[in-house]
Amino acid sequence: MRDSLPPHRTIVRFAPSPNGLLHLGHARSALENWRTAEREHGTFLLRIEDIDADRCRPHYETAIFEDLSWLGLDWPLPVRRQSEHLDAYREALAELQALDLVYPAFLSRADSARAIASAEADGAAWPRDPDGAPHYPGAERAMAASQRRRRVEAGEPFAWRLDMRAACAGAAGRLQWLEADGAAGRMVEADPASWGDVVLARRDTPTSYHLSVTVDDHVQAITDVIRGRDLYHATSVHRLLQTLLGFPAPRYRHHGLVTDASGRKLSKSDGDTAIASMRAAGMSPASVARLAFAGEAPGDDQTF
Ligand code: GLU
Repeated sequence: MRDSLPPHRTIVRFAPSPNGLLHLGHARSALENWRTAEREHGTFLLRIEDIDADRCRPHYETAIFEDLSWLGLDWPLPVRRQSEHLDAYREALAELQALDLVYPAFLSRADSARAIASAEADGAAWPRDPDGAPHYPGAERAMAASQRRRRVEAGEPFAWRLDMRAACAGAAGRLQWLEADGAAGRMVEADPASWGDVVLARRDTPTSYHLSVTVDDHVQAITDVIRGRDLYHATSVHRLLQTLLGFPAPRYRHHGLVTDASGRKLSKSDGDTAIASMRAAGMSPASVARLAFAGEAPGDDQTF
């Protein structure tokens, strides 16, 4: 039996956060993953990304299960819930700490905005990340270890940030990923430096989106990360973290986003496009699936 298994078994995941109802964009992403797994006789995993305790709610998790089952999807149990694996993220963070690639960043959002505004008032163009947010100033990179320790021990709020320049130097060499958007796919150059010193963990939560997604994709042996185009640039950070932590790179595919009538990406607060509302309005799973893929020209994934 074993000999007849394909050498590379496809494992994909859909990884929503239970902080609102799933909308058409999520249906699209879940179905992209599901169909890939079906086509390639692979495995579709559901992962619950619930590290943000302030915003995640159990009833939204229940709604995720209901909506996806209604769409006709199923997945192996138990699902991986990020809040149950904080030690795994702590361990990855400790590796980066041992490499001296992270530092405690003490500036509040307001402090940081003030520092940036004053640099800009002096005429300096302040760098922005691919989402348009200004880079973190990062003066603490040069702080003496004893001073860092003293401030941490004094209970000052802080976040662990990646020292991006040192991390890129540590990863040494070109970082790329395979974007599987055509028959052959194409290699994309990663540009993690465009993000500045990203947050990897917070004082009370030993992880962040970037760190937990990188660890989980590795732990779950994900071969193909299929997700919306809004996360295309984040892949640069994930490739860097994979390299620093010694994880192999999965393949990636960033699919088109479902947009509203004015071309804006859907949001969880927009109830009309919630899968649950469509179900309540009497739509069938097949018509929701059709709508989730409507307006996508063939090959559209290659145009960004
Ligand atoms: N949890 C993320 C979200 O809901 C998705 C993460 C990913 O697919 O990498 O947007």
